[in-house]
Amino acid sequence: MKFPVVHLGGEKCVTGSCHFMQLQGLNILVDCGMTQGEDRGVDPSQWPVRASELDFIFLTHAHVDHIGMLPRLIADGFGGEIICTHPTQALIVPMLNDAMRFEHLSDDARQDVTRRIDDLSWGFECGPTFDLKRGISFKLGRAGHILGSCFIRLESARDGFSILFSGDLGNRDTPLLPDPEAADPADFLILESTYGNRLHGDRRQRVRQLAGVLAHCLADGGKVFIPAFALGRTQEVLYELDRIFSDDAYREMYPQLRGEAHPPVFLDSPLGLDITQIYSGLHAYWDEEARALLMGGEDPLDFDRLFAVPRHYQHEQLLGVDGPVIIIAGSGMCAGGRIVDHLVHGIEEPRNDIVFVGYTAKGTPGRCIQAQAESHGTVVLDGVERRVRAGVHVLSGYSAHADQRGLLDWVGAMGGRPKMIRLVHGEDDARSALAAALEQRGYVVG
Ligand SMILES: [Zn+2]
Repeated sequence: MKFPVVHLGGEKCVTGSCHFMQLQGLNILVDCGMTQGEDRGVDPSQWPVRASELDFIFLTHAHVDHIGMLPRLIADGFGGEIICTHPTQALIVPMLNDAMRFEHLSDDARQDVTRRIDDLSWGFECGPTFDLKRGISFKLGRAGHILGSCFIRLESARDGFSILFSGDLGNRDTPLLPDPEAADPADFLILESTYGNRLHGDRRQRVRQLAGVLAHCLADGGKVFIPAFALGRTQEVLYELDRIFSDDAYREMYPQLRGEAHPPVFLDSPLGLDITQIYSGLHAYWDEEARALLMGGEDPLDFDRLFAVPRHYQHEQLLGVDGPVIIIAGSGMCAGGRIVDHLVHGIEEPRNDIVFVGYTAKGTPGRCIQAQAESHGTVVLDGVERRVRAGVHVLSGYSAHADQRGLLDWVGAMGGRPKMIRLVHGEDDARSALAAALEQRGYVVG
């Protein structure tokens, strides 16, 4: 049987996820992401279907590299239905509002798009099977990547086959999130491969690793910059800082981080603040541990000496503040957002440190900083060339994506072998390493 999916983006790179298929005459898109860095997708003007002819857009989660093209598709006439989980539905509009700021849309045009998205989107729970149309059914499952992230299984009774989109798969033991679930068997599997060639460090050690790096970095009174995606990573980092500052074990180990005297933490991100508030409101979807903390009267996303920086003038004041201080700001890849100002001001100061806790795509300043750290080479930030003299730390245990073992385990837990697996959402090395590992286990990768 012919492979039923056309990849319009995110096939051989990590950003811009977008997949199209036609089932029983229905035009279905799974994700419609924006590309970043050097990544490229197929422009909608070249797609095999017009936006106005699309019947359904399924969304695996609310990261912009999976939903960022919604405004364009709506402007081009999309009037079908958007299907996702309840938390994703709550996160789409704030995420797109922020993304659209860079597209020079008028306020009216932006409001119109957000109203249309509200009208067209439908939230569903993970678990049950729902009927779509013409004998097609779908089922969402928890992917453990960010709040609301899901994998999507579609089955066409009349065509007699099923297809599963992994979306972005997370790891076990992620703060706030329930672990990824096992998926039902499917004939075709579209599998992400971001870290298909890597094994992460021991994730249970990562809080200690973060505490150790922070204690080390703050000892000389410098600033610590944590570039973080506003959605997902920021909330995880807040959660773990809350543990570090309130758990006696860490305070014993790292007296620098002790009690009320710990350095102030600034969340310098209007979007990060909005999303954190939405995360708080969605606590019904948190994992057991986080819900238990909340029930016990402790808000795991808030602690003493955590300061919000919503306004731009406050951000400018913060640029001049002396260390020791911890600053969390977007974007995670340092390709834009307030982190860029902090780095322009602070990357040449050896007492400062940059702590990376997430993926950085090829061609982004974040990736470049990591490459130039050892040689103290230069990086271009917002058109300004700067030498990398600050310390650079990459905490791999923080990835929001499963590593090779996690991906293989998830495929193995499906309870049936797909007839074919298509690897997407990974750079060449990652895809070929994962393909080899799958083929060694007898899977067909095509
Ligand atoms: Zn994602």
